[in-house]
Amino acid sequence: MPKPGIHILNGHFLSLNDKAESTIFKNLLFKLLSKEVKLIDFENAIERIEKNDIPKHECLVAFTFDDGFEECYTKIKPVLDEHNIKAGFFINPNFINGDKSYQENFKNNIVYTYKSPMSWDQVKDLLKEGHIIGSHTMDHHNMNSNDKDFLDYQISESKLYLEEKLSYNCDYFAFPFGTLKHISQKGIDLAKQNYKYIFSQSNYKNYYSFGNKVINRRHFECDWPYKHVLYFLKSKQYG
Ligand SMILES: [Zn+2]
Repeated sequence: MPKPGIHILNGHFLSLNDKAESTIFKNLLFKLLSKEVKLIDFENAIERIEKNDIPKHECLVAFTFDDGFEECYTKIKPVLDEHNIKAGFFINPNFINGDKSYQENFKNNIVYTYKSPMSWDQVKDLLKEGHIIGSHTMDHHNMNSNDKDFLDYQISESKLYLEEKLSYNCDYFAFPFGTLKHISQKGIDLAKQNYKYIFSQSNYKNYYSFGNKVINRRHFECDWPYKHVLYFLKSKQYG
């Protein structure tokens, strides 16, 4: 059985199999719910982690999705809607804006899938419906760098870009690739100056990394067997 706590699961797409249908994610949620997992909004999960308001008898799960693939909108959002839960979507502006050769390079050499990005209209729709839109940097590069101009562009500029494009405050940042070696201390410090919340996809047994500056998420994908996902829903701790 899942352990009490707050879990943030981070996926990317519905499935690498393009023929897969939303039912696969629907079934995963159905199974989790049958194990007394409760689904909550991402924003709410973060508020509670920040306040150290961790439930003692409930297993709460929130969702985020990185890279901004179109099927987040077409195949994942409808399932979230059925449960009336809001997720976080971390996107790369240059992937959406890129020309054909930029997008091909992004898919083939950076994120290793052939999937296309959401359109700005789809992103706007998610935001309007109460989902969180966060920055995943401009280009999805490795942030383990000390180059100030590079970090400024990827981290600070992506926030400004999203805020201007979508007319909102962008408070959430997830660095690409997500393990703790994929961002420098300089990158963390800059992200902390720009954003309220920073996310990894690593060190999942602890709520935080980098001295409470980074909130950890656990990798999953919507088509993983529910027993596999259930296995992650174990005790977590601060520190
Ligand atoms: Zn990513």
